[in-house]
Amino acid sequence: MIPFANLRKQHVGIQAELTEAVASVLADADFSLGRRVAAFEEGFAAFCQTTQAVGVNSGTSALHLALLAAGVGPGDEVILPAFTFIATAAAVSYTGAQPVLADVMPDTLTLNPDAVLRRLSPRTKAIIPVHLYGHPADMDPILAIARRHGLAVIEDAAQAHGAEYNGRRVGSLGDAGCFSFYPAKNLGACGEAGIVVTNRSDWASVIRQLRSWGEIASDRRVHPGFNYRMGGIQAAVLAVKLPYLEWWNASRRVNASHYDAAITGSRLTAPTVRPWAHHVYHIYAVRTRQRALVAKEFARWGVETRVHFPTPIHLLKAYRGLGHGLGAFPEAERAACEVLSIPVHPELDAAEKEVVVAALRAVSEGSELSTLARAA
Ligand SMILES: *Cc1c(COP(=O)(O)O)cnc(C)c1O
Repeated sequence: MIPFANLRKQHVGIQAELTEAVASVLADADFSLGRRVAAFEEGFAAFCQTTQAVGVNSGTSALHLALLAAGVGPGDEVILPAFTFIATAAAVSYTGAQPVLADVMPDTLTLNPDAVLRRLSPRTKAIIPVHLYGHPADMDPILAIARRHGLAVIEDAAQAHGAEYNGRRVGSLGDAGCFSFYPAKNLGACGEAGIVVTNRSDWASVIRQLRSWGEIASDRRVHPGFNYRMGGIQAAVLAVKLPYLEWWNASRRVNASHYDAAITGSRLTAPTVRPWAHHVYHIYAVRTRQRALVAKEFARWGVETRVHFPTPIHLLKAYRGLGHGLGAFPEAERAACEVLSIPVHPELDAAEKEVVVAALRAVSEGSELSTLARAA
């Protein structure tokens, strides 16, 4: 089976560097925050073209603290796409604010700016566009709405390290950008980690305080804070991996271009890429009306597939309370039924890629189906 992700193989290539980095943290017991975290923050801020970065223990914590820095709390509303990972909505719930869902674009599956306009209310405080699968959301109209209504924009860039919108790195476009370093993301820790990047030093200082129990020099705490600290071992690992990220993303893009070309039949639709997008393919998701059957055919080719995500936010049990039934967000619902993720990671070797390409061609054309039909 060609695995959906292959982190063991990624680590073999940089084993010596990783071992040395971890050993050096052990040698000086620099385990929580510390100089490795500070150094990685500086490197990742530069990568994202922002002035500040604050390392935390997960992407979800990054979103939570960015929302608190925006002043979001009980009684406020935050607009986010109905089609995303649950963490985007959960971070809003943690603040006591209400997640307000809006439908996504039919092709890129990112937040639809017109849908955002329809969901504004006097309580709206912030918008969270999600750069889903590694394709940036259409930021200009979203930023224009935010400016007009005095709203904060927090980018959920957990799937989009290195993606660009009109030549600008995601994370640098709104008030803050939140990244996850969950192991399987485009840049992954050997454990859990996340980061907030921002050009706003006022936000960075609030987030720095809140990630570690609200510690401030004079101890005039306004909030008890959290233990959301990034660990030194994770920072050291991430610092080893960061210089490879551009290369890994380039490799994902090459794989995706071969896959696009292999989709010659009408049973599968390749992902859409807008002209202003530099897509980093955290996920390469085809769309198909026959997902269960198509997934079985890929399995027969030895290609592991996944579904990101089978249920839109409003139909998750945890968010039934929002009161949206089936039909509320048709594009999100259609996507949840049709998307199928194919392995696109940079560790795929030439032989594996050849199999995936052959599978995409055959499955998209339904040639296996006709073979089966002939056999029957
Ligand atoms: C992974 C992910 C997160 C959460 O990151 P964690 O590090 O797992 O907390 C948030 N949003 C999206 C879109 C993600 O894919």
